[in-house]
Amino acid sequence: MYAFTYQTQPSRVVFGLDSVERLPEEVERLAAMRALIRHSPHCAETARALGARLGGQLAGMHEGAAAHVPIEVAAAAREAARELNADCCVAIGGGSTIGLAKAIALEIPMSIIAAPTTYAGSEMTPIWGLTQRGEKRTGRDIAVLPRVVIYDPRLTLGVPPHVAGPSGVNALAHCVEALYAPDTNPIVALMAAEGIRALADALPRVAASPHDLEARSDALYGAWLGGASLGAVSMGLHHKLCHVLGGRFNLPHAETHAIILPHVIHYNREAAPHAMRQIADALGTSEAARGAFDLSVTLGAPTALRDIGMRAHDLDMAAEFAVLTPYANPAPVTRAGIRRLLDDAFYGRLPGSTGGS
Ligand code: NAD
Repeated sequence: MYAFTYQTQPSRVVFGLDSVERLPEEVERLAAMRALIRHSPHCAETARALGARLGGQLAGMHEGAAAHVPIEVAAAAREAARELNADCCVAIGGGSTIGLAKAIALEIPMSIIAAPTTYAGSEMTPIWGLTQRGEKRTGRDIAVLPRVVIYDPRLTLGVPPHVAGPSGVNALAHCVEALYAPDTNPIVALMAAEGIRALADALPRVAASPHDLEARSDALYGAWLGGASLGAVSMGLHHKLCHVLGGRFNLPHAETHAIILPHVIHYNREAAPHAMRQIADALGTSEAARGAFDLSVTLGAPTALRDIGMRAHDLDMAAEFAVLTPYANPAPVTRAGIRRLLDDAFYGRLPGSTGGS
């Protein structure tokens, strides 16, 4: 029997090849007078050309961001936005660039227009994150939800396969956890399953032919659905573990997602059988965890935490942190279960090698 709450997010999505050219009209639609462009170094040329087209509505341009939005970086960005008297922030880049725009909007009233170049999904969420002394705080605030999101597959062409693959699995992880979230609903489930299907189809094509614009477009479509799922419902054990591993142990964001996801799917397999069938069907495989593992291998994504900077002697502490304030999750989160999961992920074993949850 249906019982759910569904809330639409007030964001406008402009999707298509060369859609970033529509930036000036989107700035106009928001009635913004002083747009600050923040962009990743890879998009400098595009940002300069768009800035020139904004003419008198361009307040300034800033390059660069830092992973997980260190508080000092956020403070400097806010100061610069205040000095420019900006009323709109255009973020062109990955999750780090968009995260910095959100840090500004958290304190200074400002519309965000996001044009993502990776598949992290931050552009579709009201979630902000800030890191201080190695600890990452996150929260939800509608003030940081981008008012407009421009998805232009051409912007993603420069992202090399070794970045695109794990980033795509990051989006896929949002879809997976949305399917078994306690607050999921039929609309989000549709988006999440379609997101998994689109990503599983597109990401191997992106890896094989990085300049295939159609594959890039399909992957971005899947990433949009992943971001929308992430923004709509709560996330579980997978996001908690990635949060701990990224925040406390400084592991790279997307690669950590790619390694952990198959193991968390396995961990939840008995507690969320319906979601497991949906995930497996969308992946086009008979077993969800194995399907996710095989996808990462196909993409050339890392499969072992020890290969991305994790140290064996930190695994116990990571398991402790993971059970400290656990996110709602289908299977009970136990220290022993998480320690086994982390062991498999550390050595890059197949999910469940050391005896399941
Ligand atoms: P990122 O922005 O650091 O980008 C990842 C890599 O892609 C970097 O090496 C970057 O230089 C490269 N890159 C980006 N654009 C490129 C381009 N056009 N050409 C070539 N290379 C390019 O990281 P990310 O994986 O996109 O995002 C991760 C960050 O976003 C984390 O801090 C994470 O916590 C945050 N995030 C937040 C949310 C949210 O809802 N708030 C959601 C997902 C991720």
